[in-house]
Amino acid sequence: MSSTSPVSTDYSVSVSPEHEAYRKVVKEFADKVVAPQASRIDKENQMDVSIIRKAGEIGLLGIPFPEEFGGAGADDLTLAIAIEELTKASAACAAAISANYLVSTPLYLYGNDLQKKKYLGRLAKGEILGAHAMTEPGAGSDVAGIKTRAEKKGERYYISGRKVFITNGDKADVFLVFARTSPPEPGRRHRGITAFLLEKGAPGFKIGERLQVIGLRGEHPVELIFDGVEVGEESVVGEVGRGVRIALNTYDHGRIGVAAQGVGLAQAALEQALKYSVQRQTFDNYLLSYQQVQFKLAEMAAAAHTSRLLTYWAATLASRGLDFVKAASIAKITATESAEKNAHMAMLIMGAYGVSTEMGAERLLRDSQVIKTYEGTNDIQRLTIAKELAKELGVLPSAGQAN
Ligand SMILES: Cc1cc2nc3c(=O)[nH]c(=O)nc-3n(C[C@H](O)[C@H](O)[C@H](O)COP(=O)(O)OP(=O)(O)OC[C@H]3O[C@@H](n4cnc5c(N)ncnc54)[C@H](O)[C@@H]3O)c2cc1C
Repeated sequence: MSSTSPVSTDYSVSVSPEHEAYRKVVKEFADKVVAPQASRIDKENQMDVSIIRKAGEIGLLGIPFPEEFGGAGADDLTLAIAIEELTKASAACAAAISANYLVSTPLYLYGNDLQKKKYLGRLAKGEILGAHAMTEPGAGSDVAGIKTRAEKKGERYYISGRKVFITNGDKADVFLVFARTSPPEPGRRHRGITAFLLEKGAPGFKIGERLQVIGLRGEHPVELIFDGVEVGEESVVGEVGRGVRIALNTYDHGRIGVAAQGVGLAQAALEQALKYSVQRQTFDNYLLSYQQVQFKLAEMAAAAHTSRLLTYWAATLASRGLDFVKAASIAKITATESAEKNAHMAMLIMGAYGVSTEMGAERLLRDSQVIKTYEGTNDIQRLTIAKELAKELGVLPSAGQAN
């Protein structure tokens, strides 16, 4: 779980029998436990936390962490495969599980021994849940623009501000909260932001409104309000003032997971459309016999396979400790846009049943809109790719930072 040497021409993707065996385990859980609830979760816009805890019980919340921290000691590719299979059943459920990693991953990479001992094992087993709180009403992509502040008095910090669109915010026990501890430095706006661990129920900390979004319904992000919430120095994760580095490295890893969500949605749309095309007849012929349908299915298969290969490529680079930033952004754009395209084509193939809310194809399209947006919008990914290309040339353009 690191990005060290700058390699951009290594295209090896190695999916081992162990990876495929793990896929089977996750698929069985997804088919038996998650899929039967997926439609209800979407319709009622409500997901019971027990589904995430059950995922934790079979190890899905601790895949890349060492066994000493309650993890499976597996690699980033294993995690990507797990997220793909979960998303095929329910993207909302996969998103809630992924959001837990937005706390456990930075804790693993930057937390001290005490913090890891206290939280990481329990997060990895699903005994407690985490929420990652960066976005604010006035700052999403531009993380340096956050206004939440942590004022230091003696050895204590007092956090005040407001966060929005926080996944798991109303379910979490522990929160990774980013706040400004000193003003931005000239030319280095990202300095002066610090990451804090905060527990549910701290005085002055309130869960605010649920925010209604078009897709991933049931995962419902919320608003968090901090009114002078007191924390000690032991709550600081990593170095004071270097929280943006922690956040951006976390999003680099998380982006592979979002790409995997795209692969899962793109594959789910393909499977749904294919199944429908051999069941539905028009003019005495199955839909699959029409070239217009065959072409759509072929394009959908191409999009799903391309997305999977790019996502596994990024995950393989990350697993091997190589630079995966550009690969992860390329995978995220391709896979999330393939999800949108495949969901749309599935709806077209399925006619009125495609737009009916009973069959689930429209849910895939709604879910695809959200994954294009979070953990760095796709346009922010394009900026990241351009920045990486410029770095390869030895020049550095000014570019936005992604959340
Ligand atoms: C369902 C959901 C769950 C979420 N969960 C979390 C969470 O758990 N924790 C968390 O902290 N956040 C979370 N978010 C927030 C998410 O990460 C942000 O919405 C995302 O980073 C985009 O920020 P924004 O919405 O403020 O858009 P903005 O930053 O305001 O961007 C608006 C538009 O401008 C474009 N844009 C912005 N800057 C540039 C630029 N420099 N160049 C070109 N185009 C640009 C963007 O691409 C976008 O199209 C969640 C969001 C959603 C919808």
